[in-house]
Amino acid sequence: MRVPFAYLDRQFADLEPYFADLRALVASSDFTLGQVVDAFETRLAATLGLPHAVGVGTGTDALALALEAAGVQRGDRVITCAQTFIATVGAIVQVGAIPVLVDSEDGFVIDCERLEAALQPGTTAILPVHYTGNLADMPTIMAFAERHGLLVVEDACQAIGGGIGALPAGSWGVAAGLSFHPLKNINVWGDAGAVVTREQTVRDRLRLLRNHGLANRDEVVIFGRNCRLDSLQAVVGLRLVDELHRINDRRIEIAARYDEAFSNVDGIRVPVRRPGVRHVYHLYMLRVERRDALLAHLNAEGIEAKIHYPRPLHLQPAFERFGYRAGDFPNSEADAACIITLPAHQHLTDQEIAYTIETVRAFYGKAD
Ligand SMILES: *Cc1c(COP(=O)(O)O)cnc(C)c1O
Repeated sequence: MRVPFAYLDRQFADLEPYFADLRALVASSDFTLGQVVDAFETRLAATLGLPHAVGVGTGTDALALALEAAGVQRGDRVITCAQTFIATVGAIVQVGAIPVLVDSEDGFVIDCERLEAALQPGTTAILPVHYTGNLADMPTIMAFAERHGLLVVEDACQAIGGGIGALPAGSWGVAAGLSFHPLKNINVWGDAGAVVTREQTVRDRLRLLRNHGLANRDEVVIFGRNCRLDSLQAVVGLRLVDELHRINDRRIEIAARYDEAFSNVDGIRVPVRRPGVRHVYHLYMLRVERRDALLAHLNAEGIEAKIHYPRPLHLQPAFERFGYRAGDFPNSEADAACIITLPAHQHLTDQEIAYTIETVRAFYGKAD
């Protein structure tokens, strides 16, 4: 059996509805922002229960523009988590700010007990990452930010539709970035992203920033960039956004099955799941013994497990100028050697899930 990590062929097996919408778009020639982008933004905001969404070119753009719109300036220090996808730190660097990394904790999100020690002169903001689809501890982070007068922007690229209690990802900070990259929970046919915010003034600033600072065809208010949401991608996104909660529910169901199957296996550590958190499992990650052997075994058995990621960010060549060393972030470094990601997407069949469970358990000597 083959258990694929990517599922776009399954998701887009029936292209006709998309092609019909795309034909209508081409007929309208409404290619730069326009009606379909408006419709996507409105639908996205309503689905998430947030007042405003602004479509942009990528999730990375979303984070950079959110930081800029929130008021982060060149030379500011911005706290974020050491364990994340590079784009989080890339967005901080893109706006000319200096990233200050903080180690991750058991749930692969920023360890709030280490926040205080990370404060330095010039720290103006914190960019928590809802990594893997798990929510960072936002109540604690907001209290910390308030005590120290810091802006908060959320990296919700992996946690669209997630939340804590009744509060969705993206509802705490000044703004939050979302990604619709082909591998994210809501995915288009290339790159796309959005910023969500509760504040109308921030929304208005984002609309300027993404489109050359143009208030209209003839009036340039500020210097912006060109990182509009592509209307073609908005067409695809508009069809998928209604599926969000169903997609996440299925991922949560699969994760619960995995958690149960692996919780009593020697050699596997299932992360602690915080009650009240809607973790949407963009990545289903475990900590395991003999990780590389398990990975090779699963791949040989047709199960496309992956490592996110084998090399900690702060030890990458691009980070040299920040002066980090091996040993600076012990949790993130230990994770790099023992984490594994199993396919857990909404297009897996029950047989594929059962086969994955059986194969992993058998590797650790558990017969069913
Ligand atoms: C995907 C991702 C991004 C960036 O999104 P792109 O759309 O690929 O630019 C940022 N942060 C995290 C945590 C992500 O997973």
